[in-house]
Amino acid sequence: MNIHEFQAKQLFARFGIPVPRGKAITSPKAAEKWAAALQADVYVIKAQIHAGGRGKAGGVKLTNNRDEVPELAKELLGKTLVTHQTGPKGRKVRRVLIEEGADIAKELYLSLLVDRDSGRPTFIASTEGGMEIEEVAARSPENVLKEPVDPAVGFQGYNGRNLAFGLGLPSLESTVVTPFIQMLGNLYQLFMEKNASLVEINPLVITKDKRLVALDGKISLDDNALFKHPDLQKLRDLHEEDPLEIEASEHHLNYVKLDGDIGCMVNGAGLAMATMDVIKLAGSEPANFLDVGGSATKDTVAAGFRILLKDKNVKGIFINIFGGIVRCERIAHGVIDAAKEVGITLPVVVRLQGTNAEEGRQLLLQSGLTVDVATDLWEAAQKIVAMTRGKSSGSGLGH
Ligand code: GDP
Ligand code: MN
Repeated sequence: MNIHEFQAKQLFARFGIPVPRGKAITSPKAAEKWAAALQADVYVIKAQIHAGGRGKAGGVKLTNNRDEVPELAKELLGKTLVTHQTGPKGRKVRRVLIEEGADIAKELYLSLLVDRDSGRPTFIASTEGGMEIEEVAARSPENVLKEPVDPAVGFQGYNGRNLAFGLGLPSLESTVVTPFIQMLGNLYQLFMEKNASLVEINPLVITKDKRLVALDGKISLDDNALFKHPDLQKLRDLHEEDPLEIEASEHHLNYVKLDGDIGCMVNGAGLAMATMDVIKLAGSEPANFLDVGGSATKDTVAAGFRILLKDKNVKGIFINIFGGIVRCERIAHGVIDAAKEVGITLPVVVRLQGTNAEEGRQLLLQSGLTVDVATDLWEAAQKIVAMTRGKSSGSGLGH
């Protein structure tokens, strides 16, 4: 789960990481009131969406005229902001963060993430702040520092010194070295306590009056640990998530929407990935990743069907079940009931393999439904691709 910049900054403040004075507001009236309370030389108005690249897309405004603040807030509120991270559809701005502007002397990059190679929480830092770190890494990898932390002993002073010296902070601005190392320790504490998978500060700035300030903030939290953090669960913003993905999560389905036209329902994540590969190999594109889990029931199958059918791009459905723990005849019952319940008029290919596969196939063939039944994965994939080719999407459905 991702959270908004203003929420990340509230967490930063609680962990002793300096942030500008600021407040998230939802109306120009509130903007006027807050600006009056803030009394700053420069005001920064920032669109709050779960995507970066706002600066370049006009989502960050600066003014030294307090009277302009409500007007700038009004410009952003309700606007759909398209940045290179939002995709072409963009994201609607429902809140803006209004902050005291910082007088920037130097922009740095700092993040902490789980590095899959070393299996350790790893700091990434660079003197090239304010730019996308991927860009810096591609163009001048020598400017990207990595500092893994041994989770068994936690953050150590030497980790901090490696980064501070690596960035050349002692010669850049020696007074910030100690606060920088302290900040790294605080960031590490936040990361571990909140079970984050990424904390990113870009830019982390050194101000002209030699203070370190987190000017931007991004936090990704590990969904699997969210049950431990009721306070963090409250930070979820459903507006920032795909409606179909929200519905799927309510049914405990692992669903990721994609851009193709073949809806897939599969049990097991590995098999789901193999299914997507095979659809591509047969010449089409999957409309989604959907893992109904090893213990799929009639209800989960029905919920999966409903979600697939709500996607207007879907031209056909490919059900690929390997009966290991789950028995194929149960899945067949689920498919039959769900198909009758939701009224499917699209081509459906069901491939059953494993426990009671033959029984399941017989049930489907005798059900009166127009579903194609297969045993072989490659054959099944070719079938659904052939059946959907040239069809228009969403035809004949009651949505
Ligand atoms: P992003 O583009 O979505 O990553 O948004 P950021 O919060 O990183 O802001 C983009 C850029 O706006 C920063 O890199 C800064 O250059 C600029 N910016 C943001 N806040 C301030 C501020 O307080 N003062 C000044 N001078 N520039 C700012
Ligand atoms: Mn940024």
